[in-house]
Amino acid sequence: NCKEKKIEEYVRSIPDFPEEGVIFRDVTSILQDADGFALAVDSMQKLLEGSKVDVIVGTESRGFIFGAPIAYNLHKPLVLVRKKGKLPCETIEQSYELEYGSAVVEMHKDSIKPGQKVAIVDDLIATGGTIEAAAHMVEELGGEVVKIVFLMELAGLKGRERLSKYNVASVIRYE
Ligand code: IMP
Repeated sequence: NCKEKKIEEYVRSIPDFPEEGVIFRDVTSILQDADGFALAVDSMQKLLEGSKVDVIVGTESRGFIFGAPIAYNLHKPLVLVRKKGKLPCETIEQSYELEYGSAVVEMHKDSIKPGQKVAIVDDLIATGGTIEAAAHMVEELGGEVVKIVFLMELAGLKGRERLSKYNVASVIRYE
């Protein structure tokens, strides 16, 4: 059907948010449309075709939105990377730099078993700091990061270079 909307058309772009000069790519405009949400999940899942994956890792919070349906569809476990202080059992943690200050994320120690092949999923890559921290924790637990999938990539921020040792793929790329 040639009238089907492309995934890019579901993304609302907001100039000067959260600060002047930044174009914010809004995920809610995709989610609010059933066709948009389905297309986003299907497109991300397609990028995992050909990769042998044992576990899907999603990062708080929008990585959960896309990680969950992908894990469900593939019938794979879903593992959460959460902000510090949210996970109830034994955890490992990783801090990473933000534009202003730093943040700490955690994973449950028993969430990945040594040798498991892991795909990490998130909505968007900017500098790549968040996902780099997630990947380090997966590796600390003995997992192998076989693929990292984003819905959107802000290419100008060079996150892909930061993640150059990994197999990175994105559905939509903004220069
Ligand atoms: P990074 O760690 O610098 O790659 O930042 C990535 C995180 O920042 C993503 O998980 C996004 O949720 C958030 N983010 C940064 N810029 C945008 C944007 O334009 N739209 C939506 N989320 C953004």
